[in-house]
Amino acid sequence: MSSVLQHPFNEPPAPGARREVAPGVHWLYFPLPFALDHINLWLIEDGDGWTLVDTGFGSPGTRDVWRAAFDDALEGRPIRRILVTHYHPDHVGQAAWLADTFQAPVWMTGGEWALTRRLHQASDDEVGEGFRRFFGRHGLPGDALETLARRGNSYRRVMSALPPSPTLIAGGDRLEIGGDAWQVHIGRGHAPEHACLYRERDRLLISGDQVLPRISSNLTVRAHEPDDDPVTDFVDSLRALRAALPEDTLVLPAHGLPFRGLHPRIDDLCAHHDEQLDAARAACGERPLTAFDLLPVLFKRELDSHQLMFAMGESIAHLNCLHATGRVRREERDGILYHVA
Ligand SMILES: [Zn+2]
Repeated sequence: MSSVLQHPFNEPPAPGARREVAPGVHWLYFPLPFALDHINLWLIEDGDGWTLVDTGFGSPGTRDVWRAAFDDALEGRPIRRILVTHYHPDHVGQAAWLADTFQAPVWMTGGEWALTRRLHQASDDEVGEGFRRFFGRHGLPGDALETLARRGNSYRRVMSALPPSPTLIAGGDRLEIGGDAWQVHIGRGHAPEHACLYRERDRLLISGDQVLPRISSNLTVRAHEPDDDPVTDFVDSLRALRAALPEDTLVLPAHGLPFRGLHPRIDDLCAHHDEQLDAARAACGERPLTAFDLLPVLFKRELDSHQLMFAMGESIAHLNCLHATGRVRREERDGILYHVA
């Protein structure tokens, strides 16, 4: 991660307050209860109210911040439309509650809506069984596997509720918000059909989690699509975004500070995954490895059980990419998948 990014704003607004970052576009900052300790939401002036992009984590603490924001950041004006970039609970978590509070429609892509609904509706047993089968096949040992499986459907617990059926949006759509045209660009890999919003008139990109300034978005493989290759999807969709948008675009990410430097940042993210793929392949050349065996190669820090789930997904993602492109082959022993370079 070597690129030098320019950050026109040095610090975020206080939780519940707002800061204007471009004409009619305001930054909201909400705390998150994780190592990733905040999310940025974006409020766009839209007639007598607001269009909101992303909604915050589905926890009571987030609702408290929101209640303070209704009079403060929103100045008592209504949210007219809720646009959700992707299915993760820090983005879609309060969509149902806000839609109900303001009688506002939710707008999402079909791919994000389908996964939101699928994950929300799964039973605890179904989710637990999926973990046992899928992560077990990728070498996660029994104790850690049981800890994860016993969490059941943790997704549903951090959602206010399932949002109402959304108005569907798709790549290439031009949305009119507050008299301006915003173009939908699709990112993949971190989420199946992640919506990014671009305002051409002043080269402004609301990037969600697709392009972040400091960290690389988690890429994961899910039990119901075990051969998915999100690394290729992520890199390909980033390259398409780079080709479509100008170098001096102001990027408004969901985590971290707004920045200029979209092209070098995308180059760094793609290079990071190339390095991870090379490291994984080299390790598989020394001895056959499971996705679990590969964790210390890809992650140089201690992982708690929450991070372990993301790390396993990311490890499987890189092995699936190497397998799909013929750089490793798989050997199955006692129901466990090993990778050989
Ligand atoms: Zn996300």
